[in-house]
Amino acid sequence: MIICRSANEIERMKAPNQLVATILAKLAAMVAPGVTTMDLDAQAEKWAREAGAEPAFKGYRGFPGTLCVSVNDEVVHGIPSSARVLKSGDIISIDMGVKLGGFYGDSAVTVPVGDVPAATTSLLKVTNESLARAIAQVQVGGRLSDIGHAVQQWVEAHGFSVVREFVGHGIGEALHEEPQIPNYGKPGRGPTLAEGMVLAIEPMVAMGRPETKVLKDGWTAVTRDGSLAAHFEHTVAVTKDGPLVLTAPAA
Ligand code: MG
Ligand code: MG
Repeated sequence: MIICRSANEIERMKAPNQLVATILAKLAAMVAPGVTTMDLDAQAEKWAREAGAEPAFKGYRGFPGTLCVSVNDEVVHGIPSSARVLKSGDIISIDMGVKLGGFYGDSAVTVPVGDVPAATTSLLKVTNESLARAIAQVQVGGRLSDIGHAVQQWVEAHGFSVVREFVGHGIGEALHEEPQIPNYGKPGRGPTLAEGMVLAIEPMVAMGRPETKVLKDGWTAVTRDGSLAAHFEHTVAVTKDGPLVLTAPAA
């Protein structure tokens, strides 16, 4: 069942989602050669707890971090480590969830470290734009699969590929609620979008082939061909006025 939330509940979902947006922006500004993925994680946890929030991923099925930090060919679910030192030319996906006031917020960004090649910049830009195009499909009366279709169309038109093994999700009083939101597919299928649904939309895009595998740590998903992967995520409410991006950075 897909839960439809009241205007009051959506209002209450702003706090955790805005907190994630604010922390992600600060983390993105911290990213530089020489910074470790654990440096980012420690700072994220500190900022979350100072705001009275609980890191959502830490302890989730045993995940050890506040952040998922996925570098280069890592697609999602990378584990923070003081041994992972960022260097110029890398890209890092930072995914963060928190619980605050009974509700969850979830968002992700991929940022370049120092100078990256033009093709890498293009991967980030196309993935982020695919998310924007997906969000534009979040309309009352639209269909769930319109979201993934928009991602796939944009990504494949630019020569990149959509990762299939991981999907977006409903979010609210649980981190992962129904429905699952694939980033590919034909339009006009699946549940009809209704006012009050809250969706975490998160395209994961590979520069090469889309297949992934999970490393021996049991978490880190990497592209099988070793190509770079990007990941952007926003939590979005369906309103009668269109999509309300709860994780949009404060203006
Ligand atoms: Mg996330
Ligand atoms: Mg998510």
